Amino acid sequence: MSVTFKEMMSPSLTEEYPDKLPRFEERYRGKHVLQRDENGLEKCVACFLCAAACPADCIYIEAAENTEQVRISGGERYAKVYNIDYNRCIFCGYCVEACPTDAITHGHGFELASYHTASLIMRKEDMLAPVPPNARPVIVTEAPEDASH
Ligand code: SF4
Ligand code: SF4
Repeated sequence: MSVTFKEMMSPSLTEEYPDKLPRFEERYRGKHVLQRDENGLEKCVACFLCAAACPADCIYIEAAENTEQVRISGGERYAKVYNIDYNRCIFCGYCVEACPTDAITHGHGFELASYHTASLIMRKEDMLAPVPPNARPVIVTEAPEDASH
C-alpha cells in the first residue's frame, strides 16, 4: 500500500497524445529520411548498398544518370525511384549503416499505421528531406538545341 500511495501523490506521466507528441530519444528509429546536402542536392547516389543490406528485402531503387542539364545528386547517379515497403521493414537500421554517403537515416516519424497495405509503400517523395533554406540553387542549364531543327 505504501507504493500505491506514493504513486498516487507523484505527478502523472501520461502523455496527452495526439495533443502533445511524445519525446523521442535521438537514436529512435522511425520513418526513414532521405537526406540532402548543403546545396540541396540529394545525397543518395543509387549505389544499392542499402538494398543489398536490407534483411527484409523491402527497398526498391531505380537508378538514373545525372546529366549536365539536370543534376539531382552530387554523384554520377541518383535514385530516380526509391521505395521502402513498410509492410516489411523491421526498422533494424542496417540500411542506414550500409549507406556510404549518409543519405538515408531514421527520422522520428512514427504514425505509420494504416488499414491499407498499399499506403505503407513510401516513395522517395514521401521521405525526401526539404531543401535547406540557405541552399545555393542547383544550376540547370538549357539542353543544347537539336541540330536537325
Ligand atoms: S530498417 Fe532494416 S528492414 Fe527497414 S529498410 Fe532498413 S535495412 Fe530494411
Ligand atoms: S541510400 Fe545510400 S546506400 Fe542506399 S542507394 Fe542511396 S547512397 Fe546507396
